[in-house]
Amino acid sequence: MLKLPRPVTLFWGAALVAALALPAGEGASAAAGPLHVLASTTLLASLASDVARGRADVSSLMPVGASPETYQPAPADIVRAHGAGLIIENGAGLEAWLAPMLRSASTHAPIVNCSDGLTVTEANPHLWLDPEYARHYVTAMRDGMIAADPAGAAIYRANAAALDGRLVALTARIRKALATIPPANRNMIVFHNAWLYYNRRFGLRTLGAIEEVPGSEPSAEHIARLIDAARAAHVRAIFAEPEYNANLVNAVARSAGIPNVAMLYDDSVGTSPQTRDYISMLDTDTATIVHALQ
Ligand SMILES: [Zn+2]
Repeated sequence: MLKLPRPVTLFWGAALVAALALPAGEGASAAAGPLHVLASTTLLASLASDVARGRADVSSLMPVGASPETYQPAPADIVRAHGAGLIIENGAGLEAWLAPMLRSASTHAPIVNCSDGLTVTEANPHLWLDPEYARHYVTAMRDGMIAADPAGAAIYRANAAALDGRLVALTARIRKALATIPPANRNMIVFHNAWLYYNRRFGLRTLGAIEEVPGSEPSAEHIARLIDAARAAHVRAIFAEPEYNANLVNAVARSAGIPNVAMLYDDSVGTSPQTRDYISMLDTDTATIVHALQ
C-alpha cells in the first residue's frame, strides 16, 4: 500500500488524467453501455453487487483486506474513479481520502452516501455492521442506481427488495443466535471499535477496543486500563481481526486471563472463504461471537 501524503496523490491524479488524455469532467456515465458502479469498500461492493445484479457492474475501489480508515489511494484508483458512472461511499467520516481523490479524478459521477440520514454515534462510521442500517444502505444504493440508470429501475427495485428480505432474515437469525449467550457474558473486547452499532442493536456490550485510533499504536496506559476492565467484568473473549497483528491481542488476553481469542471480520469481505459477502460475513461473525462468549 502506498504511504504518501495527500498532496502527492493529488499531483499524481492531475498528471495521470493529463497523461491518459482523459477528458476532464466527463465520467463514463455519459458513455453508452452498462452503468459502472464503483464502491469504496469491498463490503459496500458486496451489497451493491446484489442490487445491480443483471444490469450494472460493480467493483470495489479498495482491495480485499485493506483498512478503510487508513487507506491511501493508488494512482490506478484515480483512473478507475474517472471511469465510474456512480460512486458509492459509506460516509460518516470513514473515507476521508475519497473526496480529494475524486477531485483528482475529474469525475462528476453522482455519489451515494450510504450513511446519509442515519444517526452517527461517537463519530463511529461502522454503521453497516447493524443489518437494519444495511437495509438503509441498500435503499440508498437502489435509488442512486435508478437515478443514474433509469432504464434499469425495475431490475434495481426487484433486486433491492430481494436483498432487503434477506437482511430482515439475517437480523432475526442473529437475534436468535445471540440470545443463547448467558447475559453476564455479553461483553466484548475488540481490536478496533467496529462493533458499536451491531452491539447496540443486539444487546451486547463493547467493554473496550485495543486500538483507540485506527492505525496508531495504543498507549501502555490504555492497555493497562483495558486489562483492568476485562478482569473486573470477567470477559470471556477478545476479538482479533485478520488485517492486524494478533500479538498484541494475545498479550492482552494472557495478562487479563481471557480464555478465548477469536477472529472477527468487519471492514472487508473476502479475507476468508466463509466471509465472501456481507451476509455470510455477519453469519460467520455471529457464530464466532456466540461460541466465544459461552
Ligand atoms: Zn473499521
